Amino acid sequence: MKRLGVVGWPVAHSRSPAIQNAALRAAGLGDSWRYQLLPVPPELFDETVRALPGLGFRGVNATIPHKAAALALATEATERATAIGAANTLTFDRDGAIHADNTDAPAFTSALAAIVPISGCRAVVMGAGGAARAAVWALLDAGAGEVRVWNRTAARAQQLCTEVGGTPVAETPLVSRFDVIVNATSIGLREGGSLADFPAFAHQQQLMSCRAVVDFVYAERETPLLEAARHAGVPTVDGLELLVGQGALAFELFTGQPAPLEAMQAAVRP
Ligand code: NAP
Repeated sequence: MKRLGVVGWPVAHSRSPAIQNAALRAAGLGDSWRYQLLPVPPELFDETVRALPGLGFRGVNATIPHKAAALALATEATERATAIGAANTLTFDRDGAIHADNTDAPAFTSALAAIVPISGCRAVVMGAGGAARAAVWALLDAGAGEVRVWNRTAARAQQLCTEVGGTPVAETPLVSRFDVIVNATSIGLREGGSLADFPAFAHQQQLMSCRAVVDFVYAERETPLLEAARHAGVPTVDGLELLVGQGALAFELFTGQPAPLEAMQAAVRP
């Protein structure tokens, strides 16, 4: 049995096993490959991941809080993972090499480019964690004209911009100035949230001049930001679409086969 998995802490909520096992079955690999949850606390990340190839693992996805540690552990990394400072996909070679990549960024680019031209656009990214770093890098790589970064803790936005690019905004950004709004904070994750949780929004009408809204968060119900964008008639990309996109690219790195996208989409929205 060839093994794959998602390493996180906590990780029980992850939809990756459902998506990846559906993909393996659809690709005819269901009898010989299996993808599983791997709950691993930070202090055990390195030694656990190093042991995985010996247990039959061909690769893993890394999620919160391990994406920076995954990059640091790798023996080789793609240019984008290095620039972003985080890896979400590790693949293991027979000779002991560990390759790191970041598939959050290209998944973001594909999904956004499908609804709006990125080149020359003015974008604001809210957040300064791993998702925000991938979004900022992807926007700049695709030729965005302006990328502003706002974060609750301003010093982290400053650090992100120093390391990845973009311009920090200390004050709450005026969202109507931007073509593309990206939520890469955790706002919207919990039940009962509203647009008012975002300091940047006084009213959903501010969204009406935007051309696209992307929300990394995925929850049981539509997030407040995506609901407001829908009411304002603005095209959106949701967290589940990004999750499938990054998972599809990881599947191809793991197996060398094209990802069966339809099966993955069906598994993420059962
Ligand atoms: P992270 O590194 O933990 O960063 C969390 C960010 O959210 C930080 O910028 C934090 O600000 C901000 N934040 C948290 N609570 C906030 C609040 N109440 N008000 C304002 N800002 C708040 O997480 P991450 O990995 O970047 O992920 C961010 C979100 O995207 C998570 O919900 C994650 O599940 C989701 N995500 C989805 C995908 C996908 O494929 N769809 C991929 C990656 C991540 P401070 O710096 O001030 O703490």
